[in-house]
Amino acid sequence: MCIVGAGFSGIAAAIDLRRAGVTDIVIVDRGTSVGGAWRDNTYPGCACDVQSRLYELDVAPWPEWSRKFAGQEEIRSYLESVVEIFGLEPMLRLETEVTHAEWHEADDAWHVETTRGPIVADVLISACGGLTEPLYPDIPGKADFTGPAMHTARWDRAVDLRGKRVAVVGTGASAIQVIPAIAPDAAEVVVLQRTPPWVMPRRDRAVPQWYRSLLATLPPVQRAMRGASSWAREIQLLSFTWQGAFRAMGERIARRHLEAQVPDPDLRRRLTPGYAMGCKRVLLSDDYYPALMRDNVTVAPGLERVTSTGVVDADGVEHAVDVIVWATGFKVLEPPLADRVVGRDGESLAQAFARNDMSAYKGTTVAGFPNLYILQGPNTGLGHSSVVLMSEAQIDYLVPAVASGLVMEVDAMAQRAYVEDLDRRLATTVWQQGGCRSWYQNGHGRNVALWPGSTHAFARMMRSFDRGAYRTRRRKGGTRVPAA
Ligand code: NAP
Repeated sequence: MCIVGAGFSGIAAAIDLRRAGVTDIVIVDRGTSVGGAWRDNTYPGCACDVQSRLYELDVAPWPEWSRKFAGQEEIRSYLESVVEIFGLEPMLRLETEVTHAEWHEADDAWHVETTRGPIVADVLISACGGLTEPLYPDIPGKADFTGPAMHTARWDRAVDLRGKRVAVVGTGASAIQVIPAIAPDAAEVVVLQRTPPWVMPRRDRAVPQWYRSLLATLPPVQRAMRGASSWAREIQLLSFTWQGAFRAMGERIARRHLEAQVPDPDLRRRLTPGYAMGCKRVLLSDDYYPALMRDNVTVAPGLERVTSTGVVDADGVEHAVDVIVWATGFKVLEPPLADRVVGRDGESLAQAFARNDMSAYKGTTVAGFPNLYILQGPNTGLGHSSVVLMSEAQIDYLVPAVASGLVMEVDAMAQRAYVEDLDRRLATTVWQQGGCRSWYQNGHGRNVALWPGSTHAFARMMRSFDRGAYRTRRRKGGTRVPAA
């Protein structure tokens, strides 16, 4: 079987599948090392915005986190350690990109073309993540800029920002981390803010050595703390789904945070969101607002166009800059493998998503694509907790199906009924009603990204594989194709 992607999801899937007796696993990744998003996002200040305790795998507890919110390098190196501890190296095929994958009925197998040759596999798992391909907005003049320009997810370390004038486009989760990190060294930073985010206090802190030792010595305490962290995060969900008093409470805390950190009333007004909290991702930061208060930082309205030497904001003011940083998010609506994976009827996954409004059964399987499992697929994202928990639940779900050696294809009716129910639940959430447009939604306004319940509810739903929702049969010509 073939897993595409050696980030959190791919690594976790390989560990659990091998434990279930599946041994012929290859993990393909186009990168030179494992780590997925935590390998690719190396911008200054990159860190998790969910407690580190939830950025570890249940199978690989990690008492060693140095901070409440670990930095990118620490998370990347954790994943390297997991690969080593579990001996996954022989499964890895790095610097190998999947260019095409097609389901063949003749042998009930996925025929996968890669830059390093073909792989035939009875099961294909997409573990590429949803926030993978950088999105560069279509802005007039973008190509005319003569200085260096880079996306936060493709940071170029060769570009020295010290003493430079830098434009940062965007004010999302990546921007609010990179701005405080670069502002002290840059000559000037112009922040092009189209929509102000809601920002809550982060309260990051170092994890004391005695506490790390305690967790290392007493694994049940470690597990209990991970469980407690995940339950604590669920409380925030109420402000997104029930809204009302829970949301008002969150907005009060964020407004107080803004007032405490930004004394200038004009800047405060410009930083105050005009939509309900949670509609876009709620951000956590203690150093974002102070960075915006610096003398060398300017908050300008959104970007109108780029010139050869600078950026022009929405008020028509030109800012001369040396470097542009695109903190403009990801191509969520074009998942990495979708246009390369072709199902039973010759339809690509991208075409199926265009037809079905980018939906999947339980976020994991799609009618017409036998034995394809998508980790972090449609509607498995979260606004309040760690997506690692969601991937783990999906893996619990697919392991018995994969281990059975059968061909499983979700029934189109079951998929439709699931998605209709999901959309009903999403309709009353702040993501749909909060008065904003976000990357959670597609062109029709369907929320394609988020799961509207708790991580625990998702895990309960995924606890057993519901064969009744699938068309199931024995594979032609044996039980398993060795991936070779
Ligand atoms: P994002 O949340 O999609 O933010 C993109 C930003 O670019 C927004 O502020 C957007 O403004 C702005 N933008 C887009 N087009 C623009 C234009 N033409 N002119 C001006 N501004 C424009 O992207 P992100 O910050 O990379 O975060 C994406 C997701 O990645 C997050 O929501 C989170 O799930 C994940 N992430 C996680 C962490 C972590 O700590 N774990 C860190 C970073 C990212 P509008 O709001 O007006 O659209």
